[in-house]
Amino acid sequence: MTQTVDSVLLPGHDVPLGRWTTVRRLLPHRERRMIGAWCFVDHFGPDDVRGRPGMQVPPHPHTGLQTVTWLVDGIIEHRDSLGSHQLIAPGQLNLMTSGHGIAHSEFTPPDHPDGMHGLQLWVALPDGARTGPAGFEHHAALPSTTDGPVTVTVVVGSLGDLRSPATVHTPLVGAEIVTGAAARHTVSLRPGFEHGLLVMSGSATVAGATLETGTLLYLDGGRTTVTVETGGPARLFLLGGEPFDEPLVMWWNFVGRSHEEIVEAREAWMAGRRFGTVDGCAAGPLPAPELPTVRLKARDRHGKTF
Ligand code: MN
Repeated sequence: MTQTVDSVLLPGHDVPLGRWTTVRRLLPHRERRMIGAWCFVDHFGPDDVRGRPGMQVPPHPHTGLQTVTWLVDGIIEHRDSLGSHQLIAPGQLNLMTSGHGIAHSEFTPPDHPDGMHGLQLWVALPDGARTGPAGFEHHAALPSTTDGPVTVTVVVGSLGDLRSPATVHTPLVGAEIVTGAAARHTVSLRPGFEHGLLVMSGSATVAGATLETGTLLYLDGGRTTVTVETGGPARLFLLGGEPFDEPLVMWWNFVGRSHEEIVEAREAWMAGRRFGTVDGCAAGPLPAPELPTVRLKARDRHGKTF
């Protein structure tokens, strides 16, 4: 890990997701759990999925979070316990709000493109929203701006004058920055936000740090701009938000505030309560893993336990 005065380079680590997919996990990281309310960052691909099933994630529950699915390549079929059934293609947003509880499945259809590349992100819900109703939104068109070889698309939240139509519950931003050629581009930032820049493809120099594909640079709050330089085509994703002060207990697919809440969510899922069923999905529900023998601890965004 390389650290300068106000930025931290966070390398990802590979995590198997089901039998067929390996993802690169950037958050949570040991010392840096969150960026704003963003509490979970998985980058998958680019993978060649010719003759392979691609993403195969059977019905599983969520609580206390929103899931954000963003594709660069490939296609994913989403179903959830609200009855939503939605194909997502590159450049579109699937946003699922768990509230108190929802279940969903995500599958690459049998007839799919050759490539798969994208992000799966979680946003922690603040008190109030985290026990509220579940919801699902698909946004096929998102605001974007082009400046020479650089296109910025605001996927979630707002950046400058652009605001995503997606429902959010804390001030935040998730935006894709694509350079089609060598470029030097300055992004205006909200000084009350902390930020991170993830390189999805190519490489970039950001705030004096050289970032290779699959790395995330954390940037402290107080910045009004960040300059991204690329030597050729590259794709980055900007994450940011107001620092999230509530310590979280994150276990399996649940985000809660206490050990007891997680135990209760797990029991409800295993008993077929609270989360509903995912109709139309051929695969059976994913059983929850066993809980650890020690109590789950809440951690704040710096990793401090409570
Ligand atoms: Mn999920």
